[in-house]
Amino acid sequence: RPALVWLRDDLRLADNPAVEAARASGRPLILAYVLDEESPNIRPLGGAARWWLGRSLAALGAEIRALGGTLVLRRGAAAEVIPALVEASHAAAVFWNRRYGAPEIAVDGALKAALVGSGLLVGSFNAALLHEPWTVKTQAGGPFRVFTPFYRSARQQEVSPPQRAAGTWSFAEAPPGDRLDDWALEPTRPDWAGGLRENWTPGERGAAARLATFVDEELAGYTQGRDRPDLPHVSRLSPHLRFGEVSPRQVLAAVRHAADAGTVPGRDAEKFVSELYWREFSYHLLFHFPDIGRQNFNARFDAFEWQPDATLERAWRKGMTGYPLVDAGMRQLWQTGWMHNRVRMVAASLLIKHGLTDWRQGEEWFWDTLVDADPANNPASWQWVAGSGADAAPYFRIFNPVSQGEKFDPNGAYVRRFVPELAGLPDAFIHKPWQAPADVLRRAGVVLGETYPRPVVDHAAARERALARFARIRGEL
Ligand code: FAD
Repeated sequence: RPALVWLRDDLRLADNPAVEAARASGRPLILAYVLDEESPNIRPLGGAARWWLGRSLAALGAEIRALGGTLVLRRGAAAEVIPALVEASHAAAVFWNRRYGAPEIAVDGALKAALVGSGLLVGSFNAALLHEPWTVKTQAGGPFRVFTPFYRSARQQEVSPPQRAAGTWSFAEAPPGDRLDDWALEPTRPDWAGGLRENWTPGERGAAARLATFVDEELAGYTQGRDRPDLPHVSRLSPHLRFGEVSPRQVLAAVRHAADAGTVPGRDAEKFVSELYWREFSYHLLFHFPDIGRQNFNARFDAFEWQPDATLERAWRKGMTGYPLVDAGMRQLWQTGWMHNRVRMVAASLLIKHGLTDWRQGEEWFWDTLVDADPANNPASWQWVAGSGADAAPYFRIFNPVSQGEKFDPNGAYVRRFVPELAGLPDAFIHKPWQAPADVLRRAGVVLGETYPRPVVDHAAARERALARFARIRGEL
């Protein structure tokens, strides 16, 4: 009788413990993916992530076909679909890799109990993290709330090496499933996914190629370069990690290997690894504080009086705030489904602090538009920027979108790429076009208020307003 592997956020064959356990059981395999938008409290994927999922499943299906099997696709609540698959295939064992959000844990826990109750062998594994959230503990035995001690403690633990999917594969006859096209995960009219197709190769092979290029060509210089949206020094592995097309263990091993071989400076490798641990920290928070996506981590922030400004929010979404760095970021997000981390911080800060808009509004927009929209990293990062999060930026830190641009996009190359209507401006004004003399604007073909907006809010005034507003709850923070 076969072993069923239920694939979820682990769309890969290598270093996939659930797949390896099923193969090691000596049983023929059934590999299945369930599009579950029906289980209680499961947050449906946003548009960009649905696009990615569709492409990633197509790639995985092709890999499995090449090995002689079929990826079975089913739609519905997992509590019904998995038992139905077990019945249809006569599976004797079910394996999966763990998830860490509360609704997913509830689904998996109930299912495990039901399957074990009906005599099946059930195995669950860690495929998504370097360390399970419950294994990293403070001295008092509780979860960490601050990154640095979390990092120090986690780093003392061993990370098991990645497994290769070597040897032969044996598949059972697959029960019937859906056609991927019928799920309509990709947009048709309007087809907004052109920029996504141009920029990304979802799937395990795409992930491996991205990792190899990053390690060979881009990782050297990461320590300084990671803050520069105009330079190619970040890995852009985030959507591949989000969908589990590559495991953090594989990423860690490749980076360590390059550092040990001396092909990249150890300093850059270490800095990069510490960023991977921010992802670990977010998952640690999600597991221990499951409301992180809905509730202020710091409950005293509940007293903050948001005063959302619909005009500013609309301009922000469209990349028309009049602050070139923020607009470049928001357009990069819309066009490519991804935004550089430095710009995410500045853009989020503008919405929250200049716009006095609840971080949850921004989190929703990112959830819908990011290909790497992640249930742990997205809310944890938004709360970090708001100041309401664990180990967050202090509430009085209000990014200046002009000086951030001048510092991190010094020649304006990033802005020119995504805000082409400003391309003709000299470097001195590329981050503050409203300060350019009339003849400079004319020569660059920029007409403020027509070809490009004036700032939707004045930085200095917005800063004072936000500080005053935050001061009201300061005593409570
Ligand atoms: P690299 O610099 O190459 O880092 C490698 C990996 O480390 C990343 O893929 C990611 O998994 C992890 N990582 C790096 N920086 C961070 C960080 N600050 N926090 C947590 N993990 C990190 N990341 C997501 O994966 N999904 C999200 O939905 C998400 N939303 C964000 C929202 C806001 C407002 C902000 C400020 C940050 C958000 N991040 C999110 C974190 C970070 O911006 C991205 O992980 C990073 O930009 C991805 O690009 P990269 O893979 O090239 O990163």
